[in-house]
Amino acid sequence: MGPMEHSSFVIGASGRILASMSERFYVNCPLSPGDVVLQGAEAHHLAVVCRLRPGQQVCLFNGDGHEYPAEITQVGRKRVELHVREAHAVSRELPFRLMVASALPKGDRDQFLIEKLTEVGVTAFVPLQTQRSVVHPGEARSEKLRRYVIEASKQCGRNVLMDVEPLSRWESFVHRPDLPGRRLLAHPGGQPAKSLCSPATDTVLAVGPEGGFTDEELASTFAAGWQAVDLGSRILRVETAAVGLAFLLASLEGLPAS
Ligand code: SAH
Repeated sequence: MGPMEHSSFVIGASGRILASMSERFYVNCPLSPGDVVLQGAEAHHLAVVCRLRPGQQVCLFNGDGHEYPAEITQVGRKRVELHVREAHAVSRELPFRLMVASALPKGDRDQFLIEKLTEVGVTAFVPLQTQRSVVHPGEARSEKLRRYVIEASKQCGRNVLMDVEPLSRWESFVHRPDLPGRRLLAHPGGQPAKSLCSPATDTVLAVGPEGGFTDEELASTFAAGWQAVDLGSRILRVETAAVGLAFLLASLEGLPAS
């Protein structure tokens, strides 16, 4: 498939093609106007998958909040040279901090979870170890999760990467001093989700593992001041509960933070 077949172009007032969301490439180094070399997976994606050629324009990002429009100057299979024209600060972030802590679902449903949370605009994701959780990512899996963040950011236009934190034990996470003021636990029988439509504000939300939280975990969480939120009368899978509640909160974006 050539680049024209899968690109959605942004057309400027003059009718000139300014940028394409699908031609974003991630670079793991500081960027500024001037020459830059792309290697590894991103070079392969640009040269072999997208079949871009010298003279074509792309957009680079490295997670520092900027976009770097660049022109391709040389293309090899494993090495691409570009010239960065300028740096633009372009924010597609939520105007408040949204942290999601959840046990990881089994199989490749963790990829779905990470991709969707990135798209929704979540600031940080914390994988949880709870009494009934079974999936506990080590460093290799965490790296994989960070790769999913980059892939989703290329597609959705985020210029700041969702942070993937190390595995955290639930008992200590609940009491972490740097958590946002609003702390929500997805839990059947809590306050209805629709009552959360207060102004957007810094929030952490937590979702339990497939086996649920234990009564002991629930008691200590509520004693620590967390609020339970009900997501309806059906039992949702971990990723459905996390993405659904995150999206609900993200959709309050336009409301002023209280
Ligand atoms: N086997 C467990 C279900 C766990 S579902 C049980 O029967 O309790 C995994 C997690 O998703 C739960 O711990 C909870 O945090 C969240 N969740 C699932 N369905 C929900 C609902 N209807 N309302 C609120 N949270 C829900």
